[in-house]
Amino acid sequence: MYDVERKKTKYELIFDALLDSLREVYSPATVNLWFEPMSIYAIDDETVGFRIPENRREFVETQFGKVITEKISDILGRKVKIIIKNEERFSEAGFDPDIEIVESGGGDGKTVDSAYRERFNPAYTFKNFVVGKSNQLAQSASLAVAKHPAELNNPLFLYGNSGLGKTHLMFAIINEIRANHPEHYKILYVTGEEFTNELIEVLAQKKAGVFREKYRGVDVLLIDDIQFIAGKMGIQEEFFYTFDALYTANKQIIIASDRAPRDIDNLEDRLKSRFEMGLVADIQPPDRELRMAIFKRKALDYDFDLSMDVLSYLADNITTNIRQIEGSLKKLKAHTLITGEKCTLPVAKVVLTEYFTKLRSENSTIDRIFDSVKQRFGVTREELKSSKRSADIVFARHYAIYVIRKTTNLSQKSIAKLFNKKDHTTIINSISFIEARIKSDPAFEREINQLISELQD
Ligand code: ADP
Ligand code: MG
Repeated sequence: MYDVERKKTKYELIFDALLDSLREVYSPATVNLWFEPMSIYAIDDETVGFRIPENRREFVETQFGKVITEKISDILGRKVKIIIKNEERFSEAGFDPDIEIVESGGGDGKTVDSAYRERFNPAYTFKNFVVGKSNQLAQSASLAVAKHPAELNNPLFLYGNSGLGKTHLMFAIINEIRANHPEHYKILYVTGEEFTNELIEVLAQKKAGVFREKYRGVDVLLIDDIQFIAGKMGIQEEFFYTFDALYTANKQIIIASDRAPRDIDNLEDRLKSRFEMGLVADIQPPDRELRMAIFKRKALDYDFDLSMDVLSYLADNITTNIRQIEGSLKKLKAHTLITGEKCTLPVAKVVLTEYFTKLRSENSTIDRIFDSVKQRFGVTREELKSSKRSADIVFARHYAIYVIRKTTNLSQKSIAKLFNKKDHTTIINSISFIEARIKSDPAFEREINQLISELQD
């Protein structure tokens, strides 16, 4: 079984750091599908050995080999080669003759697949959720729901930007209910995306009955990232009936989204109003005090002793996303494990300066772009991010998207996120719209290029 208390091994921490840096480049789906099933089984001076299920090996090697090599070399602070081995070989031989094993990597068989690990993640509890002003309402409402399902706050709707703890709270609710009532509640957690895919599949197989039985037979339904069903009419309709069936039967429903119900584009009004029937709780970015507290708490989890000056340095540099708190700690931990150095402020600076500069320059360029769009078009950042479609806002939005694409390294997907859009087709549209305008209007071309070159200084 999965052991909650088990300390992560050195290889696992290094692998975590690798996953984090791959997440900076690839989408969550890619990371989940191709990288999460991997693990590190050996590291020596020149080589890192990975294992991976055979059906993924060739693709990962040819498509991602170069990037993995680059990233892991970065993390280790030296140039290494990588070897990727078929996992099935290990169960027979137990070792790999091509590489010297310096330290065994945990040896727990690694049969738990990532979907399972994610779904019942026992590591996300109320105990290790650090509470501050910005998340206090969401935390207390979640705790109340966990203690008394379907008695208060039904539905509970949690919303906030990515990386602020929504999924953590959902799993904390699951873990708390399971701890208090081991057999009593049927709990189902799905993401909006999974709900959608599953429904499409059962409809194709004409098995909608089975689907309904499954969803309407639970005591607690948790739907994460519900914004995914926006714009999908059939899916919303089915979800509406699921919601009503559960609600009428007095079952607990918990929903998470990246924005408030009223701000989800292309979501049916009847769903919006249902989502607002219980309690809607937002999570805001953490203030400095909360960031410090989270760093302290996470450092403890990583068995990591950090002095006040290092904690301050970290809290000053990570401001918007708690996932980045973990990312920076993992980088530090991997570094100190590998070099044996103590984590002093100068060491922390060497390890993290580049990472922080990257986070910061992306943030500040974007701030400047929003500022200049506001000056030029009188359209605010909030309006750009909203779903408003008046001609002036639409134009300013195209403009901002184009400029961001030209001046940052953000992927189309991340830009889409910045504008609360579900997928990157919006971004492609904006770019071709502005490109067409540039072709037909030399004055416009001069003007926009001027701004772009100013931003690149
Ligand atoms: P979201 O679902 O809102 O995008 P997550 O729940 O996945 O965010 O949180 C991102 C990471 O940050 C997780 O590893 C989570 O454990 C951690 N985290 C977020 N908020 C807190 C908190 N208040 N205390 C401790 N860890 C947190
Ligand atoms: Mg989440």
